[in-house]
Amino acid sequence: MRFDVISIFPDLFHSFLSESLMAKAIEKGLLEVKVTTPRDFTTDRHHTADDRPYGGGPGMVLKPEPLAAAIEAASAARPVRPRRIFLSPSGRTLTQAKVKELSQEDGLLLICGRYEGLDQRVIDLLVDEEISIGDYVVNGGEVPAMVLMEAVARLLPGFMGKQESADEESHQSGLLEYPHYTRPAEFRGLAVPDILLSGNHKDVTEWRLKASLARTLAARPEMLAAADLSPEAVRALAAMNRPGVAVNTRKPGPGGAQE
Ligand code: SAM
Repeated sequence: MRFDVISIFPDLFHSFLSESLMAKAIEKGLLEVKVTTPRDFTTDRHHTADDRPYGGGPGMVLKPEPLAAAIEAASAARPVRPRRIFLSPSGRTLTQAKVKELSQEDGLLLICGRYEGLDQRVIDLLVDEEISIGDYVVNGGEVPAMVLMEAVARLLPGFMGKQESADEESHQSGLLEYPHYTRPAEFRGLAVPDILLSGNHKDVTEWRLKASLARTLAARPEMLAAADLSPEAVRALAAMNRPGVAVNTRKPGPGGAQE
């Protein structure tokens, strides 16, 4: 997977890409990331990338010419034109389903806004879609771009040590994940559930399914209406008290059920 990032603050990506699993994925050749700054496409000696908004008002707007030139240069450097995404609070909210869809692409080009955002004509002419990381506003598109890159990278075969880690994660199966425990068996008076110490894999699997369902029911009951639930999950849910909660009782799709 290739990511191109367009940002006026390229240094923000240095430690993100040089630590932990992202760095390992780059080293293994699973990921390739190139950050291009519109400042390299400016023509004045101050490398001005922003300007005042027409119509007045507070804040600055990223100038269209250097931004468009950066997007086009980054796109042209790839064998296939990457899908161009503008990280924006006006976009559709990023979900795991969207992340899965994006992970099928060969390359993505992520455009990071700053200040008040981009000149609308760059969006109209050069952007394929706008994606938001949630209904709140952060200073720039860099952190949202990192969120998107990391979520997509986690789904690439070979990115995680064990593929099951990704398969079982919250949202991947349509449910929230069960709780995790490690040593010691008792911490500040709280004990690890006995079943997890039993060594009985069948019981552990069953406990995890129920814990996953209970957590989803408590925290995000609306997810149950769309989740691919196995017959065991439907039975377990039926045994839980869930007045007024809609549950998807259709047959699970291939690999869809959480077990
Ligand atoms: N004036 C803009 C508005 O009200 O929609 C907000 C601009 S914000 C300060 C600067 C940049 O941060 C945006 O252009 C966008 O790239 C990024 N950004 C802020 N919040 C975001 C979010 N929730 N999701 C994705 N990108 C976001």
